[in-house]
Amino acid sequence: MNNLAGIGMTSQRTRARMVDRLREQGVKSPLVLDAMANVPRHLFLEEGLQHRAYEDTPLPIGEGQTISSPVTVAQSCELACQGKPMEIVLEIGGGCGYQAAVLARLAKKVVSVERIAKLVGRARHTLRELRINNVLIKNADGSLGYPAGAPYDAIVVAAAMPYVPDELKAQLKPGGRLVAPVGRGDVQTLVVIEAREKGYSERQVEAVKFVPLLPGVA
Ligand code: SAH
Repeated sequence: MNNLAGIGMTSQRTRARMVDRLREQGVKSPLVLDAMANVPRHLFLEEGLQHRAYEDTPLPIGEGQTISSPVTVAQSCELACQGKPMEIVLEIGGGCGYQAAVLARLAKKVVSVERIAKLVGRARHTLRELRINNVLIKNADGSLGYPAGAPYDAIVVAAAMPYVPDELKAQLKPGGRLVAPVGRGDVQTLVVIEAREKGYSERQVEAVKFVPLLPGVA
């Protein structure tokens, strides 16, 4: 397999430095930091970009889409898992499969929905090469979640939704959390919604910038 351990800019040491920066940026969960330290982010990128994999930036993954920056992935995983291992998580907007691979270390099972078939093919290939077997990637429109796998301990949305539909909230277990960028264009807020015994609580975390959620499959 292609450069699993990595060398130079893709080495374990470079990844450890990324994790140190994540800690400085406020990521605390040992579970999440350990997952970030162990997933070889460079292997989710095309070769020409692998040397930049551990920089604090989103990077192109083709089809006009991006892999979120390490801190964005770590923060949303931390908000989703609340420091505890999970049973089953839904990711909406699987992209290259990187965040799904991180979530696969935090949950027994990950369902990841991605609308662009080419990205689905590449993500499946990369996850297979890494022998990550607990991620199911579906080529579908995830705007309304994936009811067949529900209920979920957490739902992580990787593309900005104009609002959070009730159908999506309904796929959370009691106590489960949904983490999503909500808004349009440049005005987006990361929102955490928690399912209570009765109803939902909602908290706005910070301004963020994600690619938009789009309808249909491509
Ligand atoms: N978590 C990804 C980030 C990908 S960017 C990673 O680690 O690489 C967001 C992704 O959401 C894009 O790949 C885009 O195609 C996808 N997307 C946008 N709208 C969608 C929808 N309605 N259903 C499923 N995926 C969607």
